[in-house]
Amino acid sequence: MEDLVSLCKRRGFIFPASELYGGINGFWDYGPLGTELKNNLRDAWWHDMVHCPPIGPDGEPLSIVGIDSSIIQNPKVWEASGHVGGFNDPMVDCRETKSRYRADHLLVIANASGNGQMYAYVKDDEESYERACKLLAKYEKVDAIDESYVTTPLVSLSAEDFARVVGPDTKEAGTLTEPRQFSLMFDTTVGATGGDDNKAYLRPETAQGIFLNFMNVVDTSRVKVPFGIAQVGKAFRNEVTPRNFIFRSREFEQMEIEWFCHEDEAPKWYEFWCDIRKQWWQSLGLTTDNLQMRQHDSDELAHYAKEGCGTFDIEYQFPFTAPGFGELEGVAHRGNYDLSRHGEFSGKKVNYFDQEKNERFVPHVIEPSAGLSRGTLALLSEAYTPDDRPSKVFMKFNPRISPIKAAVFPLVNKNGMPEIAKKLYDDLRTKHVVQYDVKQSIGKRYARMDEAGTPYCFVIDGDTLDDNTITVRDRDTASQERINIDHAENYLDEKLAR
Ligand code: ATP
Repeated sequence: MEDLVSLCKRRGFIFPASELYGGINGFWDYGPLGTELKNNLRDAWWHDMVHCPPIGPDGEPLSIVGIDSSIIQNPKVWEASGHVGGFNDPMVDCRETKSRYRADHLLVIANASGNGQMYAYVKDDEESYERACKLLAKYEKVDAIDESYVTTPLVSLSAEDFARVVGPDTKEAGTLTEPRQFSLMFDTTVGATGGDDNKAYLRPETAQGIFLNFMNVVDTSRVKVPFGIAQVGKAFRNEVTPRNFIFRSREFEQMEIEWFCHEDEAPKWYEFWCDIRKQWWQSLGLTTDNLQMRQHDSDELAHYAKEGCGTFDIEYQFPFTAPGFGELEGVAHRGNYDLSRHGEFSGKKVNYFDQEKNERFVPHVIEPSAGLSRGTLALLSEAYTPDDRPSKVFMKFNPRISPIKAAVFPLVNKNGMPEIAKKLYDDLRTKHVVQYDVKQSIGKRYARMDEAGTPYCFVIDGDTLDDNTITVRDRDTASQERINIDHAENYLDEKLAR
């Protein structure tokens, strides 16, 4: 993970936000390459879900339309949605180190027949686990931790046991505070007067903007249930412990679809969306071994999912979770919770009339909710490929999402080569994102493109002047072939179309 973060910084994918001022925890900026990568992921999603949506079980393309709603809405929206008062995470503080943890992310390890002390560590954090094991071994005077040691979630401990826990960064027991609920909602003030009456919230999910516009979309477009509304945009959560690079940040982007259907058909659509969304991530190059589907346990379900048939997470094996997995996308059956609540709280009609069946009902919702920022991290993690070539690493992006599709290099910056290279670059750049580079040795230029994940490099050399051929270098194999310069455009079109 450290290598990936350092490559992202070095090559301009992702920088810490406000870096000049020492950064700000939980916020990140995307550089030139990162912005292209993230936009390509967003555009692939929009293309495959909205412009050219999947084929449904009846053999016909689904009907999905897009919207772009405000980040700040009437604060009543968040009361109706259950977020005000309900969107909390339990937090514990360490009185000694002042560290703060998500209580539900802490596990404790103990020796059932030992001295009664328990050692806390952070879930999916190997370093923290090893530290807890070392402490336990030291206090209990044992060499290794075996099956007689029990691991329990911190939140399930009795008050008596809780007092015996040694925190993840301390050596003595009893420094952790009792878990307290902490609201994840960022608030702000609208207008000049300030005060609680003008308090508003930054949206913690894009979904509510879709529910708010359900009636507008039904009334103004030709959609008929079942249909979907899609949205991509920023969401804000005041996470207790932002960590793991852009995996858990306080400002991030989501790509969400709310699929509205009749209650009777919800189980069928739920299954459909779980399959489609997993296949979609695979189509962008996430390998099967690194992806898994996991059904939420009943105690994990969000307030809206209780009524429905549950939530499946599409999980990815990130470098910091391996051998475990972390959530990439959730596919939730939200029941008709959101539309009903907005109907109730607004006092307005929020439902659907099916003319064919002469039936009025509040549609049920299947929600595939993907992280655009987390997706970008999954693509970066998957692409990172150590190799024995001089750059030691290359980024094996699916060409569809590569920030740069091809590079054009004159072998040397003289002998007529730059003119020919420039002409090729001019021909290609109107169609594809292509870069022209003359600086440094050819080896260094290849290395730069390998780290940027550029699939093809075209090189104009001495032979080009004689026989009109150029070299194409393939990023993944580092092998080279010669093609006629007049075929370069077709060559690239064909490769990128695959
Ligand atoms: P987690 O359990 O990891 O906090 P969640 O279950 O609260 O996530 P959802 O509310 O289902 O997440 O949000 C949908 C998607 O939004 C997630 O699958 C993830 O990709 C993304 N997401 C949620 N929180 C964050 C965050 N803090 N930073 C980056 N992406 C996030």
